[in-house]
Amino acid sequence: MAKTITLLYFDGCPNWKEAEALVKQQMRPGDKLEYVRVQSGEEAQQKRFLGSPTVRVDGTDVEPGADSRTDFGLKCRIYLYDGSYHGAPKPEWIARALGRAEAGAAEQLPAAAQPPTTQPGADGQPGRAAHPGSAAPAGLDPADWSTVQPRFDALQARNLTPDNVGEWLQEWSDLRAILEDAIFASYRAVTENTADPEIEARYLHFMQDIQPKITVAEQGLRRKLLALKNYQPPANIREFYRRQQNQAALFREENVPLQAELAGMENEYNKIVGAMSVTLDGQEMTLQQANQRLYSPERAVREEAWRSVQVRWLQDRSALDDLYLQMLKVRRQMARNAGLPDFRAYRWRELSRFCYTPEDCLRFHEAIEQEVVPLARKYAAWRQRLLGVERLRPWDTEADPLGRPALHPFSQVEELIEGVQRIFNHLDPELGAYFARMRNGNLDLASRPHKAPGGYCGGFHLTRTPYIFANCVGIQDDVNTLLHESGHAFHFIESCRQPLIWNRMGAEAVNFEFAEVASMGMELLGAAYLERSRGGFYSEQDARRARAEHLLGVITFLPYMAVVDAFQHWVYTQAPEDVTAADLDRQWGALWDRFMSWTDWSGLEDEKVSGWHRKGHIFETPFYYVEYGLAQLGALQVWRNSLHDAAGAVAAYRRALALGNTRPLPELFEAAGARLAFDRPTIGGLMRLVDGELQKLL
Ligand SMILES: [Zn+2]
Repeated sequence: MAKTITLLYFDGCPNWKEAEALVKQQMRPGDKLEYVRVQSGEEAQQKRFLGSPTVRVDGTDVEPGADSRTDFGLKCRIYLYDGSYHGAPKPEWIARALGRAEAGAAEQLPAAAQPPTTQPGADGQPGRAAHPGSAAPAGLDPADWSTVQPRFDALQARNLTPDNVGEWLQEWSDLRAILEDAIFASYRAVTENTADPEIEARYLHFMQDIQPKITVAEQGLRRKLLALKNYQPPANIREFYRRQQNQAALFREENVPLQAELAGMENEYNKIVGAMSVTLDGQEMTLQQANQRLYSPERAVREEAWRSVQVRWLQDRSALDDLYLQMLKVRRQMARNAGLPDFRAYRWRELSRFCYTPEDCLRFHEAIEQEVVPLARKYAAWRQRLLGVERLRPWDTEADPLGRPALHPFSQVEELIEGVQRIFNHLDPELGAYFARMRNGNLDLASRPHKAPGGYCGGFHLTRTPYIFANCVGIQDDVNTLLHESGHAFHFIESCRQPLIWNRMGAEAVNFEFAEVASMGMELLGAAYLERSRGGFYSEQDARRARAEHLLGVITFLPYMAVVDAFQHWVYTQAPEDVTAADLDRQWGALWDRFMSWTDWSGLEDEKVSGWHRKGHIFETPFYYVEYGLAQLGALQVWRNSLHDAAGAVAAYRRALALGNTRPLPELFEAAGARLAFDRPTIGGLMRLVDGELQKLL
């Protein structure tokens, strides 16, 4: 059917000719091209003119989602796609509007899909954004399954051949992106405010009603893909295809409701923890705020804060015990349903850990015990000497051993954002530009009541915009956190070059081992710019101190990681069927003694053995923790390279990020100039490097 294409423009717009050329390339005989010159602001309102150039096919804007926008005006229009700004619409949008409009399937995207309307490089005020995804578009509403189902049905009904499979996958991917964005918007909202029942209901609706249906529908599409005869997946989807084969083999219909049940329990954990607060000096504060006092030079202040936080955790001890034991049952059942010997085997498959085994992890724990624990002990003894205390207690590990007050890089989050912006501008101007783009409502960094704990980075696929959530209170840790999450954000942006969603960072539960190289690597790369003279926050002396604290943190983190990981290996493969909370406590205590014995916990038995309550990953993302250890080794290697060739190390880092999920894990590490390693010699070598740097800094 012939189409009517309308090109709206204003005189003096430099880009409308480009849009005209794009349209002419794709017109077919019979299509009609109309020109509308917009001459006044009034006319812009009347013609719903979003700026010059605007291209409509049969009255519908070619840019997905644009028709629900209302920011009309006599101005230039900017298009955001493929991770950057353009003066004309994406050629594929025009093609799609012309081709697909015939089948009546012109895409309507949710409000979440709307590109930001700001000019590139404009610095918006950081803070709360209007929640994307809250307005329902005509046609497809991700929260209403009756509008989603027909899209999956159409994909399922398509006659699939090796020739059209690429196009089909792209359509699937586009649908998935719309759904992912809506689900992520609901997750973002619930973590920003854990106390609003309406927001929670929307999130739970997605997790418990929509997500399971997506899982089932996608399982159908997966089967269809895998059933395709004579199909050789091209290189960029080989890894995806392998994961699909794996997931198809793992899928059990009866696990779908169990997964939804688990999602509810995971949310319960967040709710319990999000409600925790303590009162110190008559002031109610979040646990994160109370923990800030662990940096105090006054031992009594540290001890009081530490103890009150622990008392608060212990109040919910039996609730958390019960919750975890319940989760354990469900997880074991899922493994049985899938015909696997235990949940560890299930989870290995679910996480697509093709490139290493549980035994590799056990080997990794041992190497840490041999190479890292002695170093941690050495620095603990140093700390104890400088603090002048007889025994190093749990509240003594964060404070500066020279009794200086904690580093205080900023008071307001705006200062944090400005400082980190300058660091990125120095490190790599393009990364600086990426960060600048997020400042328009995609950073929620301040700690406040009823906000979920911790930090994370997510992203909206349709606008290729990452989002960072954190609980910042004004300490050096916050700088690290923002550098860390920004590493994830850069990974999201770089990997959005991949047209298929599954090849992008975060869209599938895979390759986190490398995703954390992106984030932890950025912590180390960014730390080179912490002094004010290089863009950062500090005097030369304080910058050295921050770097030393960071490296000391690396040393103590690895043994802690080993405790968290080894605990779960035990829970899911060795703990008896009728395991009790007391058994879990005993195991945690034993592992604590094996890896973390440099602090004295005498008289604090309950606090010590219930420590597993304090690690959300154990509840929410089982076995997802060794990733941080493996990634730390990768990050240390990226950093080691940067000490000799800073620009080269950053370039390799970005190239590796852009690969997304298209390569096996060891190749991603290699692209970044590192090696995926579990062995004692590699770990020993890196620890000697860290030790040497520390000698220079301390
Ligand atoms: Zn991370």
